[in-house]
Amino acid sequence: MKKTLEDLDFNNKKVLVRCDFNVPLISGEISDDNRIIQALPTIKYLIEHKAKIVLCSHLGKVKNEEDKLDKSLIVVAQRLRELLNQDVIFINETRGFKLEKGINNLKEGQVLLFENTRFEPLETKNDPELAQYWGSLVDLFVLDAFGSSHRAHASTTGVSKYVKDSCVGLLIEKELAILGKALSNPRRPLVAVIGGAKVSEKIGVIDNLLKIADKIIIGGGMAYTFLKAQGYEIGISLCEDDKVALAQEYLTKAGDKLVLPLDSVCATTFSNDGFVGTFSNEIMKEDLMGLDIGPLSIDCFKAILKDAHTVIWNGPMGVFEMDNYAKGTEAICECIANLKDATTIVGGGDSAAAAKKFGYTDKFTHVSTGGGASLEFMEGKKLPGIESIANK
Ligand code: ADP
Ligand code: MG
Repeated sequence: MKKTLEDLDFNNKKVLVRCDFNVPLISGEISDDNRIIQALPTIKYLIEHKAKIVLCSHLGKVKNEEDKLDKSLIVVAQRLRELLNQDVIFINETRGFKLEKGINNLKEGQVLLFENTRFEPLETKNDPELAQYWGSLVDLFVLDAFGSSHRAHASTTGVSKYVKDSCVGLLIEKELAILGKALSNPRRPLVAVIGGAKVSEKIGVIDNLLKIADKIIIGGGMAYTFLKAQGYEIGISLCEDDKVALAQEYLTKAGDKLVLPLDSVCATTFSNDGFVGTFSNEIMKEDLMGLDIGPLSIDCFKAILKDAHTVIWNGPMGVFEMDNYAKGTEAICECIANLKDATTIVGGGDSAAAAKKFGYTDKFTHVSTGGGASLEFMEGKKLPGIESIANK
């Protein structure tokens, strides 16, 4: 078990908190502040416990000087001031005198945010000198960036070695508790709904869930590799030919634990206008592509979901970004969200976006903040950031 906030004494201590403030920006404005909101409980806890709080995060990908122009965390500092209703000192540097002075002048309960950790080219290399430098600025380290905890970077994984003590924050504690219980000790039946574009991206998840789940429903683009393995015509639907044999292997191994779509909403081109109609697996045509699950599949999947006591949903059932192919994802999302006696979890960035688009975010037990991180957790992998934190 990793140390949590309760295990450390923060009174009058300088504390570095690695948050996940990697928010989407549209023309320089934050379009979704969920990740900032999810970071608040830990920050508020530290304010109440009289810490001197130093926040850091990455924002986007930074490959060159030009990338830095629109990747400053200054917009996050402004949003934090509004949400915390107190000043947040922003230091537009990632190292140096200004940052050190800012931290050393902090009073109990004050909050400072420094610039995008990826402005340091060696951040993503988990450079020990950089990690040691950031660690040297503070007494304690709190990792609360669940969405970055699968990355072995200086600010997520490196720092903890160079501070007196470390722990995970409240967001990570919550993510680990809910995802961890669903995978290790779920209320059964546990039904996993896996979708999205590619089998290759979800092989690890399918592998791990085959060991754990009672049923695995497969939809989305990746279903066609499985349908091809079953011998169906799949037309010009998404298919990974080099994964057909593996899909076949899963089908043989899993038997009726794996559930596939019975019909598809099809198009001639990958566009909303290419819409043609619904075709069952048996009458699928060679010049069509399946872009959503059809009504027979929706009914079949709903019948399985209605008895579930735990549901893990990872991956949309179709191209929900286009209106003609959104019904399958919306119906399954609605069905899971409305289950009365079930723990319902959304993992995966696009699935979370779909839940939001269709208005069901609040009806799930938990919408994970970690796209890639929750995926790796569901694969049963250890997350290096979390591993680096001190044990209880
Ligand atoms: P998540 O982020 O929730 O893990 P993925 O990234 O695996 O989900 O997949 C999401 C993408 O899969 C969406 O952009 C969606 O348009 C696409 N997708 C779903 N079904 C199909 C399909 N039948 N054909 C092509 N793309 C699809
Ligand atoms: Mg995705």
